[in-house]
Amino acid sequence: MKEIKCAFCKGKGIDPFELLSPLSTCTVCGGTGKVTIEEPYVRCAFCHRTGVYPNSRLSCTVCAGKGVIGFKDPKTTCPDCKGSGREHTTTLPCIRCGGIGVVRKEEGDSPKPTNKRNFPESSNHGKEKVTEKSEVA
Ligand SMILES: [Zn+2]
Ligand SMILES: [Zn+2]
Ligand SMILES: [Zn+2]
Repeated sequence: MKEIKCAFCKGKGIDPFELLSPLSTCTVCGGTGKVTIEEPYVRCAFCHRTGVYPNSRLSCTVCAGKGVIGFKDPKTTCPDCKGSGREHTTTLPCIRCGGIGVVRKEEGDSPKPTNKRNFPESSNHGKEKVTEKSEVA
């Protein structure tokens, strides 16, 4: 885990949009100005690491306002959004990568998503948890 500056409030600890009052506590970091993130991590493509959901005053739903997302698997640029993190015709996060702009390398390498090897179809696409307990002796 690493402590980084809160992207949403830029480390100030107060709500950047002063929705309630100029001294409103930042909802992302709880007022500390810092957030913790698991390493390694990637920058959030969807909000351009600002932590702000584009064209809104809310924290980014992709990175939860942190601006970065923990991503420890080998990664490659998302073939669907070309790394932009957005759907082509909408302003919504890319379904394939969930908005982070990268996918697991083996996923990006497979030409068609129909080629499911050992990844069973998950109902909540993009947020599925892969069990990686095999290394524990
Ligand atoms: Zn903050
Ligand atoms: Zn984001
Ligand atoms: Zn994508």
